[in-house]
Amino acid sequence: PLPLDVERIRADFPLLSRTVHGKPLVYFDSANTSQKPLSVIEAVDRHYREHNANVARAVHTLGEEATAAYEGARDALARFINAPSRDEVILTSGTTQAINLVAYSYALPRLKPGDAIVTTVMEHHANIVPWQLVAERTGATVKAAPIDANGELILEEYFKLLTPEVKLACVGHVSNVLGTVNPVREIARECRKRGIPLLVDGSQAAPHRRVDVQALGCDFYAVTGHKMLAPTGTGALWAKREHLMAMPPFFGGGEMIREVRFEGTVFADPPHRFEAGTPNIAGFAGVTAAIDYLEGIGFDRLKAHEQDLLAYATDAIAALPGVRIFGQAKEKEPVVSFLLEGAHAAHANDMATLLDLQGVAVRSGHHCAHPLMQFFGVPATLRASLAFYNTKAEVDEFIAAIGRVRKLLL
Ligand code: PMP
Repeated sequence: PLPLDVERIRADFPLLSRTVHGKPLVYFDSANTSQKPLSVIEAVDRHYREHNANVARAVHTLGEEATAAYEGARDALARFINAPSRDEVILTSGTTQAINLVAYSYALPRLKPGDAIVTTVMEHHANIVPWQLVAERTGATVKAAPIDANGELILEEYFKLLTPEVKLACVGHVSNVLGTVNPVREIARECRKRGIPLLVDGSQAAPHRRVDVQALGCDFYAVTGHKMLAPTGTGALWAKREHLMAMPPFFGGGEMIREVRFEGTVFADPPHRFEAGTPNIAGFAGVTAAIDYLEGIGFDRLKAHEQDLLAYATDAIAALPGVRIFGQAKEKEPVVSFLLEGAHAAHANDMATLLDLQGVAVRSGHHCAHPLMQFFGVPATLRASLAFYNTKAEVDEFIAAIGRVRKLLL
């Protein structure tokens, strides 16, 4: 693919040109949340300036425009993940809401004592805790598939857990801490053989790679807008129609009914059945702009640049004396978690604080993945997470900043 003109791309992201503590910002925290291009910021701004009204309620022009913006985001998301139908795309506030929707509307009514849900040791808490909550209520259990020292799933062990008691299997497409890309197609194939539906947390995949839910062969796929250039408070759950039709709503209220009577309420069909209340309409106007932006670049070009950056950053970090890198999977997205010798938890946070003084934004901590930290036997890591708008010069600056910070700390 044609190489990215990163300087031109950076000019689209107003925030990237600011300084922090008098230093040019190096933003290496995109796995936490991505920065936003001007087109997204302007789409939100334009919505409030020109089209603001509530969705689905009003027949006046503004109401129709707001509804078109909101429903347009559903179309854009359906295309973006290759959903077979736009009606299978539920708009949510993010991945957390999407997964909780499956937990409470799909899993809770089906689970009995002795049943199980399978997830993995490398998941974000959003793909663990909702399952624990519904398991506790029903007498079911949550089983976690193990990983190896490289941070790759041990597939045979995952498959061994897929016993007849399992009502739902879950996996993250990409680990937010390790960058590991999990073999979702293969997992979906094994789940299908056993008649077990598969939920995929796509939070960290959708910003980096083309997602095709039909090719993956899963049953549920969750994405969050704010990690893929869109505003916070936006996201989606894709689910197969057969599942959605059999799911009672999780939230009740306006916008999700056909008829309300005190003798019994008739719910709307999916997707509106699951979208009670007034959504983040302006945010979803931003989702469409974000998808347009990503597709305008093209994932082949984006990926080539990100993989090149990942290799460059990994080599540079690996060359730091006394470094331990967490996650050396064969296939990774651009995330590097690491610790420096003597850098226990306090040091990871001190490092991040001192790096901030140098203008470098990285995350330190457990990254909402306690079980993964327990596996590696550390309370925290430092995480540099990159995006297509980052450069090798920033990696160099980051490494130089670490050198300066180490002198102060170690
Ligand atoms: N899953 C993964 C893998 C994540 O990285 C995150 C965000 N850190 C989430 C779920 C939760 O996403 P949100 O907060 O947008 O709901």
